[in-house]
Amino acid sequence: MMRHQTESTHRPSAPPRIPEVDFDQAPFLVIWETTQACDLACVHCRAEARPCRDLGELSTLDAMRLMNDVRRFGRPLFVLTGGDPFKRPDLVDLVEHGARIGLRMGLTPSATPLVTAERLAALRDAGLARLAISMDGPDPETHDTFRGMPGSFQRSLEILETARNLGLSTQVNTTVTRSTLDTFDAMAELVAELGISLWSVFFLVPTGRAKAEDVAGAEEFEKVFHRMYDLSKDASFDIKSTAAPHYRRVILQRQVQERKRGERSAPPEPLTGGVGFHMGRGSGAGPAIPATARAKGVNDGNGFVFVSHLGDIYPSGFLPLGVGNVRSDDLVEVYRESPLLQALRDPDRLKGKCGVCEYRAVCGGSRARAYAVTGDPLEAEPYCTHIPTRWKHMQAEGVSRRSERGGTGKTQRLPVLGG
Ligand code: SF4
Repeated sequence: MMRHQTESTHRPSAPPRIPEVDFDQAPFLVIWETTQACDLACVHCRAEARPCRDLGELSTLDAMRLMNDVRRFGRPLFVLTGGDPFKRPDLVDLVEHGARIGLRMGLTPSATPLVTAERLAALRDAGLARLAISMDGPDPETHDTFRGMPGSFQRSLEILETARNLGLSTQVNTTVTRSTLDTFDAMAELVAELGISLWSVFFLVPTGRAKAEDVAGAEEFEKVFHRMYDLSKDASFDIKSTAAPHYRRVILQRQVQERKRGERSAPPEPLTGGVGFHMGRGSGAGPAIPATARAKGVNDGNGFVFVSHLGDIYPSGFLPLGVGNVRSDDLVEVYRESPLLQALRDPDRLKGKCGVCEYRAVCGGSRARAYAVTGDPLEAEPYCTHIPTRWKHMQAEGVSRRSERGGTGKTQRLPVLGG
């Protein structure tokens, strides 16, 4: 899969409309880890960030070639993450290049003094479409402990206000862990005051610095999903889950119940709580989600691809199974033809209860969490309370077959952890 050298011939253009996306052909969202350098020391950092940049990071030229290749997919959302992207002196040039060739550029900086009003204004002028800031607690104590930096809470609020005043669309990313569960409602109240476009609620995957004991249980996931759905009805911003596609299952279940009770006239919407994009409602200026993406949902390697600071290609930042490197492989070809990515896009290849679940096409469970817990990216999502009807029947058949063979007749333990 040798990469093709392509230089862009695209002209500056108006903000793109996101076209219909066939996830077998193109991702909806590409995330590039610009660097692992960061001045924070977050407790659950995926990137296990460090203070200094790696000499092997993609250069400015490498990054521009990467963006040109991403543009060959169409117009995916392209998010610069880290580490802290503000550690790169070429950040404004990179955003300018991506916006100029027609990519919709997002950025997730760390809340440090590097994020100045001047640099934010330069990024806005370069064509930045969305700025996302992490806030993991509704007060300085919770947030600063989580982020390992006193003053980070206040800095986050200041950055969001500055960005808003500059006319940038803003997003807050919040991580749900066992220790922050109790602050969820207060966090919802805080984000409601921040004038954001999107609240992205990330459910911890035990990888990087995150430990399995930090992950909330399946029952707690479920409670938060229902709370998110309740909030979404009146919120002035969109709410989505990250690394928890089973929120989509809860949305559908709730809407079916509402319809049965006569509280809803429209059929259930195939909403997606994918990975990092706007839902087409709320106060933000983000693009509406096309029906295809809404119906299928975005998941690891399925409408989504991640490129590391060294150029390695992964299904997501939380699923550390490399499928190539943008320096030597063609990203477009890898996305379309990698056997792993093809498997992740096929709901019928899922194992356990996810493989027979009636929601597998819109959900499919977090492939990253399945891998982190079981070592198999196609195994059942371990933190889902739902028991599919077919799985129930299979369990019952298994019981009667074992009984006929003189077994114990006990039902096999379902793969639900922490509930
Ligand atoms: S069983 Fe799997 S596919 Fe079904 S809702 Fe749960 S996580 Fe999603």
